[in-house]
Amino acid sequence: MLELNAAQIRMGRAAPDKLAALALLAEGLVDDGLVEPGYLTGMQAREAQGSTYLGQGIAIPHGTPETRDQVKRTGVRLIQFPDGVDWGDGQQVYLAIAVAARSDEHLHLLQLLTRALGEGDLSQALREAGEPEQLVALLQGAPRELALDSQLIGLGVAAEDFDELVWHGARLLKRAGCVASGFAGSLLQSQPLPLGEGLWWLNSEQAVEQPGLAFVTPARPLVLHGQPLTGLFCLASLGEAHRQLLERLCDLLIEGRGATFSQATCSRAVLEALGAELPEDWPSLRVTLANAHGLHARPAKALVEVAQSFDGEIRIRLAGESGRGVSAKSLSKLLALGARRGQALEFSAEPAIAADALPAIEAAVLAGLGESIEPLALPGETPPSEEPGTSTFVRPRAPAAGTRLQAVAAAPGIAIGPALVRTPLELDYPQRGQGMLVELQRLDSALAQVTADIQRLIDDSEEANVREIFITHQAMLRDPTLREDVNARLADGFSAEAAWSVETEAVAQQQEALHDALLAERAADLRDIGRRVLAHLCGVEAPREPDEPYILVMDEVAPSDVASLNRLRVAGILTARGGATAHSAIIARALGIPAIVGAGEAVLALAQGTPLLLDGDHGVLRVAPDAQTLEQARREREANRLRRERAHAERMLPAVTRDGHAVEVAANIGASGESAEAVELGAEGVGLLRTELVFMDHAQAPDRHAQEAEYRRVLDGLGGRPLVVRTLDVGGDKPLPYWPMPAEENPFLGVRGIRLSLQRPDILETQLRALLASADGRPLRIMFPMVGGVEEWRIARDLALRLREEIPVDDLQLGIMVEVPSAALLAPVLAREVDFFSIGTNDLTQYALAIDRGHPTLSAQADGLHPAVLRLIGMTVEAAHAEGKWVGVCGELAGDMLAVPLLVGLGVDELSVSARSIALVKARVRELDLAHSRALAQRALALESAGAVRDLVGETH
Ligand code: PEP
Ligand code: MG
Repeated sequence: MLELNAAQIRMGRAAPDKLAALALLAEGLVDDGLVEPGYLTGMQAREAQGSTYLGQGIAIPHGTPETRDQVKRTGVRLIQFPDGVDWGDGQQVYLAIAVAARSDEHLHLLQLLTRALGEGDLSQALREAGEPEQLVALLQGAPRELALDSQLIGLGVAAEDFDELVWHGARLLKRAGCVASGFAGSLLQSQPLPLGEGLWWLNSEQAVEQPGLAFVTPARPLVLHGQPLTGLFCLASLGEAHRQLLERLCDLLIEGRGATFSQATCSRAVLEALGAELPEDWPSLRVTLANAHGLHARPAKALVEVAQSFDGEIRIRLAGESGRGVSAKSLSKLLALGARRGQALEFSAEPAIAADALPAIEAAVLAGLGESIEPLALPGETPPSEEPGTSTFVRPRAPAAGTRLQAVAAAPGIAIGPALVRTPLELDYPQRGQGMLVELQRLDSALAQVTADIQRLIDDSEEANVREIFITHQAMLRDPTLREDVNARLADGFSAEAAWSVETEAVAQQQEALHDALLAERAADLRDIGRRVLAHLCGVEAPREPDEPYILVMDEVAPSDVASLNRLRVAGILTARGGATAHSAIIARALGIPAIVGAGEAVLALAQGTPLLLDGDHGVLRVAPDAQTLEQARREREANRLRRERAHAERMLPAVTRDGHAVEVAANIGASGESAEAVELGAEGVGLLRTELVFMDHAQAPDRHAQEAEYRRVLDGLGGRPLVVRTLDVGGDKPLPYWPMPAEENPFLGVRGIRLSLQRPDILETQLRALLASADGRPLRIMFPMVGGVEEWRIARDLALRLREEIPVDDLQLGIMVEVPSAALLAPVLAREVDFFSIGTNDLTQYALAIDRGHPTLSAQADGLHPAVLRLIGMTVEAAHAEGKWVGVCGELAGDMLAVPLLVGLGVDELSVSARSIALVKARVRELDLAHSRALAQRALALESAGAVRDLVGETH
C-alpha cells in the first residue's frame, strides 16, 4: 500500500511548466528504482486524458494502464514547488505527488488525501512548508485520536478458532474506517500477547488509516497456545494514540478486573471500563429499502442529499448489524453498505435534528430515492431479501410455434438456426453460510472453475483484443483486496454467494462513483465476472451453445457484444429491444450477421433450441416454421445469394439508372484500414469517415501526427477517390472514454457534435490540421456534424479556411451534415455557403420524430421513410441544387433497398452505405428509372406514415 513519509519528499524545486515538472517527477521515480524511464510517457499521456489536479495545490500524476509494465516497484515521490506550476486551466500546483503503481493503489492514496483536503485550503501551507515532515503532517491531517466506540466492540461472535476471531476484530476496524485492506493479514502475522484471564492482545501498524481499538469475544471459549481465549483486543496502531488506554487497561488487569471484559454482555460495560465515550442514545428509526437494485450510486446520492440538508450527524447501518453505523452523508460509506432491496436500514440522528431529519429520510426512502420502486412483498410472502437475484417481473409467454412476428430489420440476410436465449441468470441463495471453512472452500472451487473456463476462452480466441479482455477478467478474480473483503464477510457468517456478490457490487459501485469512464467499464466487467462466479456457486449453468450455428436471442446487445461475436457460430441476432440505427445494429450490418431488433419481451421466453427463421431484410421472425415456410426461405436465401453474387460481380460498374442518371455510391467507414477494403467492394469513395471511431481505437486521444497517419492511410486506400470526413462527433450516443463529459439530463439535446467541438477548439484545430496535412493533392471533403445553425457552420468553416492558408490543399470542399431539422429547414441559406450537404438520416429521423434512436421500445418507430423525414430530405436537395451544390445521404436509410428508389427520386447525388451493401445498392440503382423514381418519391411525400411509404415502394419493387 502507498504510504507517505518525509524521505519521499524533495523540497523547494522549480519547474517552468507542467511538462518540466512531470520530467522532474519521473526522474525522481527512476532514480529511486521505482519505474523505468518509459513511465514518463504514461504520465504525460494520463495528463492529456485529463488533468490529475486534485485541488488545494496538489496534483497526483501517474501513468496509464499501458505503462504499468514500466513500474518496477509501487511507491510515491513528492516534489514541493513553492513558486507553483501551472497544471492547466490556471490551477497552481505546489505539491506534486508522483505515483508509481501497477494497479489502483493510487485510489487509496486519493482517499487519504481527500480526507486531508476535506477542510480548509492547504495550498498556502504546502507552499510555505520548510520541512518535509511538515508536509507529511499536513497531508495526514491532524494527529488522530484512538477510535473506540460501540461499533468496535463485538461480543459473542461466532468464531471457530483464533483466526476467525481476528478476522472479526479486523473487520470491525475496517468498517469503522480505521484500516484499509491488508490489515487483517498483517494482524494475523503478528505475535499475540496474553494479558491473563483469557484476554489477548494483537496489534499491527500496517494499512492503518486511523488508530483504533477493537474488542471481540467468542461465542464459545477458545484455546490459543494451550491457554483460554475469552476476549481479544485488536489494535490498529498509529503513533502514540493508544498509550493512555493501554495504561488504563494494565491498571484494570492488575486490579484483577479482567472479567469485566471477558464476561461482558454489553459494549457499554467495556467502553465504561476503558474510559471511552459512551454510545449516544440517539433517536432512531428503521425503514425497508425497496429499490430494485438496492442502494446503488443513484439512490445513495439522493439519500446523501437529504442527509446533507440537515445540520447535524445522521448515521445509518444495516438493521441487525452492530456498531454506530456510518455517516449517511458519505456516498462511499453508503455504497460500501451494499444494502439490497428488502433490507431494513436503521437511521439514527443526533437529538437536535432527529425530529425533522428522521421523518424526512423515511419519506425519501419510501418514495424510492429518485427511482420508481415496486412495493415489497406483503407479510407472509417470501421477503425479497431472502431471495436476492430473483425477479418479480412477469415475462410474457413465448410466441407459439408457427408465429410470424414483425420487428425491425437491422441487418440484411436470412438466418435459420436454433435459438440460444441469453437472459440474465436467476440466482437464488441463502444469506448465511455453513461456517467459514466450508464457504471458503466453495468460493475457492468456484473461482478455480471460472478461471479455468476463462482460460479456455483465452486459448480459443484468435483476436488479441478479446484475449486481453479475458486476461483482465482473470486478474480481477485474483484481486487480493477484493478477496480480503470477501473473506471478512465469510468470517461474519455470510454465505460465499452473499459475501461475493455484496463485495463485488460494492467495488463496482465505488468504481462507478469515481466518474472515470475506464473505471466504469471495469465495473461492468467486474459485474459480469462476478455473476459468473455466483452462477457457479448457485449451481446454475449458462445455456450451452448449440453445435450448429445458432440465432442469438438477447434483450439488447451492446456494440461490444456484437463486436466480440464469432461470426461462424452466430447465424443471426434477435433482440427484444433496440432500433435499426442503434450502433449495435450498425456493427451487425458491418459484420454481415443478419439481425432483427425490437421484437418484444416475449422472444426472451423462447425455449432454448427453438428453431427460428429470421429475415433481416424485412424484419420478420418466424418461430418453429413449418417445412414449407422453411423451404421457401431457403429458396429465397438462395435467390438472395445469387443476387448478391451477381451484384458483387458487377460491383465495379457505376450505379447508373436505366435512363442514364448516375448516382455515386460510397462507403461509410469507422477505421482507417477499411477504405481499401471498401474500394475492393465497389466503393467510389468514402462518403462518411466517422472519426470518433478512429479516436476510439486509441487508448488516449491521438495527437496530430497519429491522426495524420490514420487519415493518410484512408486516402492511400482510396487511390485518388474522394474522402468525406466527419470531424469528431462525440456526445449523445457516442461517448469517448478519455473525454469525460458531465452528465446531462438530455445528452442527445445537449453538448454533442459540433457544439462540443466548438467548446474545445484546440481539439478541432488539431484534427483539421491533421486532415489538411494528410491530403497531399487528393480530394478531401470535410464536414461538421450536428450543425443546427449558420453561426456554428461559419465558425467551423472559418477555422478550416484559416488553417488551409497554412496548409494548402488543392481539392478541398467544406460542408455540413444535415441531421438536425433546423439545418434542413435552413438549407436554402446554408446552401449558399457550403460546398455540399450529407444527410445523416439516423439523427435527422430521431430529431424530426422526437424518438431517441436508441430507445428500447420506441426506436423501432424511428423509420427514416416517414414522409416527414422524406420532406426534409427533399427540401435539402432542392435548396442545394438551386445553388449548384451536391447532396449525399450517409444515414442507414441509404442502404435500405426500399429507400433507394425514393432517395434517387428525390435527387440525392450520393449514397453512402456500409461497405457490404455497396454492390447491392449499386445493383438496385441500375434497376431504376429516374423518371419513375421521381414520380414515386412525389407520391411518397404525400403519404401519411412510414408504413404507407413502405407499402407503396414494396408494391412497386
Ligand atoms: C446519422 O446521424 O445519420 C449519421 C450518419 O451519423 P451517426 O449515425 O454516426 O450519428
Ligand atoms: Mg449522426
